[in-house]
Amino acid sequence: NIHHTASTGKTLKDEAAAILSSLGLDAASLSGGDLSVRSPVTGETLAAVKTISASDAASAIEAAHKAFLAWRLVPAPKRGELVRLLGEELRAEKEALGRLVSIEVGKIPSEGLGEVQEMIDICDFAVGLSRQLYGLTIATERAEHRMMETWHPLGVVGIISAFNFPVAVWSWNAALALVCGNATAWKPSEKTPLVSLATQKLFERALARFRTEGGEAPDGLSTLLIAGRDVGETLVDHPLVPLVSATGSTAMGRAVGPRVAARFGRALLELGGNNAAIVAPSADLDLTLRGVAFAAMGTAGQRCTTLRRLFVHESIYQQFVPRLKSAYQSVSVGNPLDGNLVGPLIDAKAFEGMQAALEAAKASGGTVTGGERVEVEGAADAFYARPALVEMPAQTGPVSEETFAPILYVIRYKGFDEALHLQNDVPQGLSSSIFTNDLREAETFLSVRGSDCGIANVNIGPSGAEIGGAFGGEKETGGGRESGSDAWKAYMRRATNTVNYGRTLPLAQGVKFDV
Ligand code: NAD
Repeated sequence: NIHHTASTGKTLKDEAAAILSSLGLDAASLSGGDLSVRSPVTGETLAAVKTISASDAASAIEAAHKAFLAWRLVPAPKRGELVRLLGEELRAEKEALGRLVSIEVGKIPSEGLGEVQEMIDICDFAVGLSRQLYGLTIATERAEHRMMETWHPLGVVGIISAFNFPVAVWSWNAALALVCGNATAWKPSEKTPLVSLATQKLFERALARFRTEGGEAPDGLSTLLIAGRDVGETLVDHPLVPLVSATGSTAMGRAVGPRVAARFGRALLELGGNNAAIVAPSADLDLTLRGVAFAAMGTAGQRCTTLRRLFVHESIYQQFVPRLKSAYQSVSVGNPLDGNLVGPLIDAKAFEGMQAALEAAKASGGTVTGGERVEVEGAADAFYARPALVEMPAQTGPVSEETFAPILYVIRYKGFDEALHLQNDVPQGLSSSIFTNDLREAETFLSVRGSDCGIANVNIGPSGAEIGGAFGGEKETGGGRESGSDAWKAYMRRATNTVNYGRTLPLAQGVKFDV
């Protein structure tokens, strides 16, 4: 059978079904549905699952709202206990879920497991947070008064997620939303329903344990809506969804943002990036080579934080770029489950988009190394490509767009200010890096006149992040922040409270109003 993989001898379809069944999913739910699920690893069909209609999704959102009305009354540290149990279930099934991520999205095993580790980490973070969620006490101008702020949950948090972090993005949102006292309704990518079904099963296990321990949690707290864009739109338009957290392309955000705003809802947008790194004359080139190679070629260029533009100082260009090119020529491209470092693109459309960008780059004077399709045994219907390094004379043509594939545009620069200008001169603003040992350059890069991105790093590539920091970007990346720091505030509403504990009624600003 052409779909056997060397590592297990089973078809990926059988392996995915076995994982899902071990997590308690009924085998019947994997066939006969209207949404066909494909593995990018081999191109084989894994399952056909049922989608939810827009009207059923609207009813599910109403049920989620009822769940919120009960959940908000549960003390936050008790809500944290549910998320702690979710983290335990994820720990117990890390191998299984990580493997399923690799099968459904084509990530190498360490990245499939890494995605689940991120879910575990955000659960830990959220558990601690559940004993915080604090407001300020603020000095008041009136005697015998106290002014403070209180944070309250919002309601149903709508989560729309992209294919490339198919479950971690849910957890970044859900773990915080739940400890904050919200219910969640999740519309995953139509390309990744299986990992979302698995994740929902783990949530249900945690919920059952929570109830066994005596915890009170309503049904409908975490609702999974497997469907396409139409149900995404139901979430976007529903008046009982006060916050829509949407991760995906800038085109999606451009549609979602104004629609949510039109009903005065809140949108948390995590959209496309076009991330750059500057390699300065003083850079440690060995470290830079490893940082650049992982950030640009890892996950086959399909991270929102993937390195896509590289500005190399002219004085080290000849020393550095040939070494990078040979890394591009030698990196192993192939079945990610068999030990290769670069796996497949998600589908044919992604491969065509990559080829179109390379053609456009050539038309703008670029010189392309790599980029060709790589045939992989047993995977005739899959799309593997050698990562492409494109030397560009200037930042023109496709360089200012995000092409969701492993293409690195390399541009020579002369002066630091020129490099800074190029780095910022694109519509997106997610992640950025500088490789330098010059303190002035490093600090300037991080300063107000430096990188305009949500993430700015020194001597680390732009790709990937830890959950402790706030994650997100500026400009066409959408402006949202998720995960660590005080990102939890996006999932709550703030009330300012003033209490008079005296016997008089002084008015603010010295106003007199004696009736
Ligand atoms: P996509 O925009 O095609 O789809 C993302 C999600 O949005 C899917 O669930 C889809 O069904 C839904 N959707 C699309 N149009 C919609 C609409 N009009 N209304 C409601 N829902 C809609 O993105 P993709 O191809 O799955 O993912 C890749 C993109 O996501 C890249 O641009 C990448 O940079 C971005 N991304 C960003 C981040 C981040 O945190 N900034 C993280 C991961 C991915």
